[in-house]
Amino acid sequence: MTIRVPPRPLFALLAVLYASLAGASAAPTTGIPAIGSQTSLLVVSPHPDDETLCCAGVIRRVVAAGGRVSVVWLTSGDGSELDSLFVERALRVHPLKMRDLAHKRMREARAASLILGVPPRRQFFLGYPDGGLLTLLTDHFTVPYYSKFNGAVSVPYGDTFAAGHPYTGESLERDFARVLDRVHPTLVLAPSPLDAHPDHRAAGILTLQLLSRRHELAAVRFWIVHGGADWPTPRGLRMRLPLAEPPRGRGLGLAAFALSPLEEADKLEAIRQYHTQLSVMSSLLLSYVRTNELYGSLPVPPGAAPRTATPH
Ligand SMILES: [Zn+2]
Repeated sequence: MTIRVPPRPLFALLAVLYASLAGASAAPTTGIPAIGSQTSLLVVSPHPDDETLCCAGVIRRVVAAGGRVSVVWLTSGDGSELDSLFVERALRVHPLKMRDLAHKRMREARAASLILGVPPRRQFFLGYPDGGLLTLLTDHFTVPYYSKFNGAVSVPYGDTFAAGHPYTGESLERDFARVLDRVHPTLVLAPSPLDAHPDHRAAGILTLQLLSRRHELAAVRFWIVHGGADWPTPRGLRMRLPLAEPPRGRGLGLAAFALSPLEEADKLEAIRQYHTQLSVMSSLLLSYVRTNELYGSLPVPPGAAPRTATPH
C-alpha cells in the first residue's frame, strides 16, 4: 500500500532564498573573510571530490593558519551511470556495484582530505542518495525515497555519520544540523543554488535553510562547480591560468581567492586521489586547478527569480 503525502511546497524553499537575498542585499559582503586560528571552516560537499574542486585553496589556508577544517559529504557519489559503465564495468546499474563505487569514492575522499589537512574525525559522510537530494527536500521530505542506483531507502553504509537513517528530507536536515552542532563553523562554504547540478542546488538550499534558522547566514559563502556552458575553459591542467567567472555565476559578485603555487600543487595532489573520477573525466577535474577559487555571499543575483530551485 502506498500512503500519499502531499509534496512539501516548493515555495517554502523559495521563501528562504528570498529572505536570505533580502538580508544579503542589505549588508553586501563577498569573498572569503579574514582567516586565522579561530576559524572553524565547514565545507558542504554534495559528492566526494566537490570539496577539493571548489575549495582546496581555502582549506589549505585555514589549516596553515591553525584553524579547524571539517567537511560534510551529503552523498557518497553512488549515482553516476558513467562510473557504473567505466569504473564498475557494468552495462546496467547494479545496486551492489554502485555501493562498491560509493565505498571507493569515500576512500578517495578520505585520502584527498588528509592531503589537504582535514583529519578523519572532521570528515562527515552522510550517505544520502546521489541524484536524489532535491527530491528529498520536496516530495520525499517525510516519505522515504528509493534510490534506483544503490537500491536503498535508508543510508546503507555502516561506517557513515548517518548509517541506517531514512532517505527523507527531514532526516537529511537533522543530520546536517548534527554536523553543525558538532563543528560550530565560523565559515561555511556551500554550493550555489544556481549550480547546474540538482544535488548541488539542494545542498545550497539546505545550507540556507539551516543557517538562516540559526541566524548565521553571514558565515556562508557560495561556490559553483557546474557553472554552465563549457566552464571552466579551457579544459585540462593549466595551473597558471585564473578561473574565470562561470556563466551561472553572473550577477553574484563572485570574488577571486588567490592561491599560492604551493596551494595549487596541494589541490592537484588531492584531485589525483580521485581515481574513479579521473578515469571518466580527468580533463574536467584538472581544469579546476587554477590560480584562484571563486566565492560570493549572494545565493541568487539581486532582483532575480530563483528559477533554478525548481526540481526537474
Ligand atoms: Zn558534485
